[in-house]
Amino acid sequence: MIEPSIVKEIIPLNGSPLENALKQLEIAAEILKLNPEIHERLKYPERSLTVSIPVKMDNGQVKTFIGYRVQHNSARGPYKGGIRYHPDVTLEEVKALAMWMTWKCAVVDIPYGGAKGGVICNPKEMSLSEKERLTRRYTIAIAPIIGPYQDIPAPDVYTDAQTMAWIMDTYSQLKGYREPGVVTGKPVNCGGLLGREQSTGRGVALCVREATKVLGIKFKNATVAIQGYGNVGVYAALILKEMGAKIIAVSDSKGGIYSKSGIDPKAALSHKQKTGSVVGLAGCETISNEELLTIECDILIPAALENVITKSNASNIKAKAIVEGANGPTTTEADEILNANKVLVVPDILANAGGVTVSYFEWIQNLTRESWSEETVNKKLEEKIVNAFYQVYKWSQELKRPMRLAALALAVNRVAEAMKMFGFGS
Ligand code: GLU
Repeated sequence: MIEPSIVKEIIPLNGSPLENALKQLEIAAEILKLNPEIHERLKYPERSLTVSIPVKMDNGQVKTFIGYRVQHNSARGPYKGGIRYHPDVTLEEVKALAMWMTWKCAVVDIPYGGAKGGVICNPKEMSLSEKERLTRRYTIAIAPIIGPYQDIPAPDVYTDAQTMAWIMDTYSQLKGYREPGVVTGKPVNCGGLLGREQSTGRGVALCVREATKVLGIKFKNATVAIQGYGNVGVYAALILKEMGAKIIAVSDSKGGIYSKSGIDPKAALSHKQKTGSVVGLAGCETISNEELLTIECDILIPAALENVITKSNASNIKAKAIVEGANGPTTTEADEILNANKVLVVPDILANAGGVTVSYFEWIQNLTRESWSEETVNKKLEEKIVNAFYQVYKWSQELKRPMRLAALALAVNRVAEAMKMFGFGS
């Protein structure tokens, strides 16, 4: 019997990422015939913390921001997951993202649970020192529940290595000793790892390569369209080009560009750094974000935010495979349409797991004071991602279900097995 207070707690907004995440969990539970007590427990985060963060802005005024840290599940290890700064952050969204982190860490079989953090703010309108003060104060607010053995944040949307350095420094000051293991994705000169910045994009690129293999498409010159030109999209583009694929379209929040003969991702990046957008790069046609999603191509990579592939555009998608660089870009209804149209979807919890995998390598090195070469990091990353890809693919063949459901089933099963060992579920 569920407490009425809990029922209120879980009714998610229609079409929200949390609704999507809960539906996915329900389908995985059905496939696995999951113990209902374990299913019930997995619907809710183990802990969600809301904090208010007063920040003195450059004009002398004090502004209060709202931030969250949600810890979904810790059966397989300490909580792990990024922190995002975005005006549209909500507690519900962070709960969904925290749940996806639990599954992501389980899919690639690294010893972590799942968490996520977020602050409602618009970092594009804030100065560097305002962002620093916000980050340090947010760290103080969540300090009681983070730590190298408790919960290890990392970068996410609009946060980066610099943000992680501020978190590590603030946390270390509170503790009285330097603690590099409290966050991952740090700058290389203070405990970070060569290869971490590229790692999510690298994992996406590896999944694209393996997806072409299982589909029987030639990888060399396979055409790729990428929605979102932040950390994930940029490195996926650069690495895919280096590996031999052809990037024909990319976009950012201001619009997109298309070139049949291929886009140079480096040129697109420097154009964006100079002008604030990829739009206007010489030799390319301008397209909208919506057009990019439905363009004729072999592989589509959504690498921005949630809920961009929906029931209203899914049937117009012409790509043979979708490799999800973003978290939660496809709604459950869209998934059904894509599945019926035989579009191979490599799900977020596998496709973008490269980031957290290399975070894990960084954390191990912080705890042991060891240091591995970038070559070793990339080799180990490739092993992890390719292994997970084929484990999921095999489950998908055996279950006769799409890769997303296979990945979810694999992950939920691993988490449930750990919970059972701790005595959970009758
Ligand atoms: N924010 C990234 C993700 O969504 C990385 C998380 C991490 O490294 O902890 O997977």
